[in-house]
Amino acid sequence: MTGLYDSFQRPINYLRVSVTDRCNLRCVYCMPVAGVPRLSHEDIMSYEEIRTVVAAAAELGINKVRLTGGEPLVRLGVASLVAMLRQIAAIDDISLTTNGTLLGRYAAELKQAGLDRVNVSLDTLKPDRFKAITRADASLSEVLAGIEAARAVGLNPVKVNMVVMAGINDDEVLDFAARTIDEEWHVRFIEFMPTAGVGDNGLRFVSLVDIKEKLSSLGKLEPCLPAIGNGPARYFKFPGSRGSIGFISPVSQHFCFQCNRLRLTADGKLRPCLLSDEEIDLRTLLRSGASREELKGLIKTAATKKPRCHRLAEGKAPQHRPMTQVGG
Ligand code: SAM
Ligand code: SF4
Repeated sequence: MTGLYDSFQRPINYLRVSVTDRCNLRCVYCMPVAGVPRLSHEDIMSYEEIRTVVAAAAELGINKVRLTGGEPLVRLGVASLVAMLRQIAAIDDISLTTNGTLLGRYAAELKQAGLDRVNVSLDTLKPDRFKAITRADASLSEVLAGIEAARAVGLNPVKVNMVVMAGINDDEVLDFAARTIDEEWHVRFIEFMPTAGVGDNGLRFVSLVDIKEKLSSLGKLEPCLPAIGNGPARYFKFPGSRGSIGFISPVSQHFCFQCNRLRLTADGKLRPCLLSDEEIDLRTLLRSGASREELKGLIKTAATKKPRCHRLAEGKAPQHRPMTQVGG
C-alpha cells in the first residue's frame, strides 16, 4: 500500500494548517470571552517551517492543504505562503477558511498566489446579530463583500459555513437555504461542537436531522454531488437551484469512519483528531535540525495515533485549546 494510512486503514491525504491563533473576531461558539493567552511570536511556525512540513507530508501522500486559524488573513503575507505551497508539485488543492472580513482586501492577491478556493464562515444574515455572535467591531457587509470578491476573482466554489445554534441563529436556516435557490451560494450547516472554552457557555446544539426536515418547506431536497472535494458534508439541492446545501453533522451522525485529515497547530503540534487533546510536538524536532526522513517519521506516527472515532457521546470533549489554536 503506498500513501499515508492510519491504524484503521483510512487513507490520510489532507492537512489543515492553522497559521495563527490570532483573530479579529471572537465568535461565541469558538472562543471564551476572555482568558485565552496568545501564543508568542517565537512559538508560531514561520512560513518556511510550514513549507518544510507540508513538503514532507506531500512526500507521504498529502495532496490537499487548507489554511485556517485563528483568522488566517490577519497574519501578514498569507498570500506568500500560498505561493510557497503552490511550488510543491504533489499538492493539488490549496484552500483557505476565513471569517471573510478581510477577504475583500486580499481575494485577488490570494488568487494570484495560487489559492484554489475559500470557505467563509457566516452564521447570520442580520447585522445586529452578526455583532452579537462575533463580539467584535466588524460588520456583516464586509463579509458579504468578501464573498462577492472571492467569487469575482474565481476562488470558486465559495462555500458558506454556518454553525447552527439553538435560540441564537437556528431561525435563519430557511433564509440561508433560500439563498441557494437564485444565487450560487453553497451553504453548509454545521453542528455546534462543545470544544475547549465554549462547552459550558450555554450554547445549545441543534441536530441537522431536524434542520433538514425544516428545509422541506422550501421544496424537496435532492441529493447531489459536492461542487468540489469529498469532505464530510452530505450535499443536497432544491430542483433547479443554482447553489447547494451541505450538512456537516459531527455530533448526530459522525463521519469519523471517513476521516482523512491531520492538523498542524499554529505552534507546530500535529493533532491527529480535532476532538481529542492528543498532540505530537513537531516544532521541537524541526527546530533541532531534523532531516526530512525524521519529519516524515513523526507525521506517520501522528497518523497512527488517530483514534477510531471521537468520544463526544461519552461526554469526552477536548479541554485544552480553543478552536482558534487548532483551526476547526
Ligand atoms: N477564522 C476562520 C473562520 O472563522 O472561518 C478560520 C478558523 S475557525 C476556528 C474554522 C471553522 O471552525 C469555522 O468555520 C468555524 O465556524 C468553526 N468552528 C469554530 N468553533 C466551532 C464549534 N464550537 N463548533 C462547530 N464549528 C466551529
Ligand atoms: Fe470566529 Fe474563526 Fe475567529 Fe473562531 S477563529 S473567533 S470562528 S472568526
